[in-house]
Amino acid sequence: MKPHDVLQVRPDGLYCPAGDFYIDPSRPVDRALVTHGHGDHCAPGARSLLATPETVAIARTRYGEQAFENFQGAPVGQTIRIGDVAVRFVPAGHVLGSAQIVLETGGARVVVSGDYKRAADPTCAPFEPVECDLFVTEATFGLPVFRHPPLQGELDRLLASLIAFPERAHVLGVYALGKAQRIMAELRARGYDRPVYLHGALLKLTQLYETLGVPLGPWKQVMEVEKEELRGQIVLAPPGAIQDRWARRLPDALPVGVSGWMQVRARARQRRVELPLIVSDHCDWDALCRTVTEVKAQTIWVTHGAEEALVHWCRQQGLEAAPLSIAGRGEED
Ligand SMILES: [Zn+2]
Ligand SMILES: [Zn+2]
Repeated sequence: MKPHDVLQVRPDGLYCPAGDFYIDPSRPVDRALVTHGHGDHCAPGARSLLATPETVAIARTRYGEQAFENFQGAPVGQTIRIGDVAVRFVPAGHVLGSAQIVLETGGARVVVSGDYKRAADPTCAPFEPVECDLFVTEATFGLPVFRHPPLQGELDRLLASLIAFPERAHVLGVYALGKAQRIMAELRARGYDRPVYLHGALLKLTQLYETLGVPLGPWKQVMEVEKEELRGQIVLAPPGAIQDRWARRLPDALPVGVSGWMQVRARARQRRVELPLIVSDHCDWDALCRTVTEVKAQTIWVTHGAEEALVHWCRQQGLEAAPLSIAGRGEED
């Protein structure tokens, strides 16, 4: 079987006819296989959801028990047969529970990587390259200008700012799934042992990470402490909250951006970020190219982000490559 016959591109997601299922569909379908818990990959409403046990737990926490008729957890590495397809989940290194989905049928192997990164992350298992015939890759930061610096230097800048501005609450804009917990775990790995203060929107998933065995150190809810206690402390909040009315209750808030996009000065300025930290849960350009090389696929499909540049690079390497247009992708970073 040709790899193209294993997966079809439909406007609402990738469809596998031999197994009659979708991967990361954007609308409710009968059977959804999901790479990870971000909203642009895991939409509520499918009749049945198959994902890693961690992603199933995340989907239940985010959307409630009613959001799917039935949930099935597939531990990484275990092969499951669906119709004529052998399906396996392999770590993607993006957020807790994130996995690539490996499909094998008729002698062809296809890997849908979802979102992934190659940088180390103490909150999830590292990406494992799987050799295949067709590799579906994201390209959120798919331009040669995107280079994510080592995390150490970015956190050093944050810790230096806390010392330079001990009167100011440092409020970091972080996504509720993944970024918030990764920042906490990385701070702990560097010996930062003060409590981290959380916006209410980050509580449920932070508690879930701890339940699933990821230690995050002491934290408190912003709502439950006196304003003065927050001076010189690290506060985590959703990116949209660091400039809104919520942030006004913080003492002399210093807005900190925490994203791969902080490399783009205009974005940092637009969000009125005073301290931009380049921290991403996606690959930068070099990591994308390295991964494409390592998986040895003859065909590469590129989705969300700057697709054209990576498609062009792949063709220069003698590979077959095409951009995919799937609605609504790439909105979490
Ligand atoms: Zn994601
Ligand atoms: Zn995504």
